[in-house]
Amino acid sequence: MISMKPPWDSLPADSVALLGIPDDESSSFMQGPALAPPLIREALHSPANHLVTELGIDLATSDRLVDVGDLEFDEATNRRDHIRENLERLLDRRARPLLLGGDHAITYPIVQALARTYSDLTILHLDAHTDLYDELDGNRYSHGCPMARIMEEGLVRRLLQVGIRTLTPHHREQIERFGVEVIEMRHWRPDVDLNLAGPVYLSLDLDVLEPGIAPGIAHYEPGGMTTREVLNLILGIAVPIVGADIVEYNPRRDVGTITAAVAARFVKEIAGKMLALPD
Ligand code: MN
Ligand code: MN
Repeated sequence: MISMKPPWDSLPADSVALLGIPDDESSSFMQGPALAPPLIREALHSPANHLVTELGIDLATSDRLVDVGDLEFDEATNRRDHIRENLERLLDRRARPLLLGGDHAITYPIVQALARTYSDLTILHLDAHTDLYDELDGNRYSHGCPMARIMEEGLVRRLLQVGIRTLTPHHREQIERFGVEVIEMRHWRPDVDLNLAGPVYLSLDLDVLEPGIAPGIAHYEPGGMTTREVLNLILGIAVPIVGADIVEYNPRRDVGTITAAVAARFVKEIAGKMLALPD
């Protein structure tokens, strides 16, 4: 794994760029995910573990995995514009982004950037929530709304949501309106065929997990997945992953660093999967 500060002009060909997006201004219930990226990195690089993935790729020696650091925000720049423009810079350099949130609101400008490069994206969205609110607490850019904005703009060919267990009548209307595919948690089975066709963007909200497994999140929704189930789902993807985010880690709610370790494990295996499958 190479570390590289912006301006990112010498990224290796076909690299996976690990980028932190420390933004939680659109969280509806409690803030904290802006603190997440350095803590996920710390867990990833913990001397307690090595960096060889389950598929046998050694991230420590890979020169195609590049840690480009964290985005910095200032008051003068619109946060969504800043995220979108920096993602476009990475994509223009033919890197595939692996993003550390931040809350889930970051996914809208990320996908706006990706849609410029990929016209036939599928989003595989793992979450307890649909994030399809038309608005939440008067905010159309809340972390409860990114998938509504993405679908309104027609940015992707397909949105497939897995792990959902918080549907309201409004969400069901939005699902119908946008043609979203939903596998509710109550119906999900480990052998379900997601029928994926590439390219795929993987958006992983940590609250898809059973909260007792990963308590460092804002919104506890018991009845979720195990870490192993999520890992097997990721490892089973047989089409190119052109980008991914791991969002909603809230260190303020964590018990020790257990959720950071879970997030780091996902970073590791997603990175390995992205490196194993060139786009
Ligand atoms: Mn979410
Ligand atoms: Mn969620």
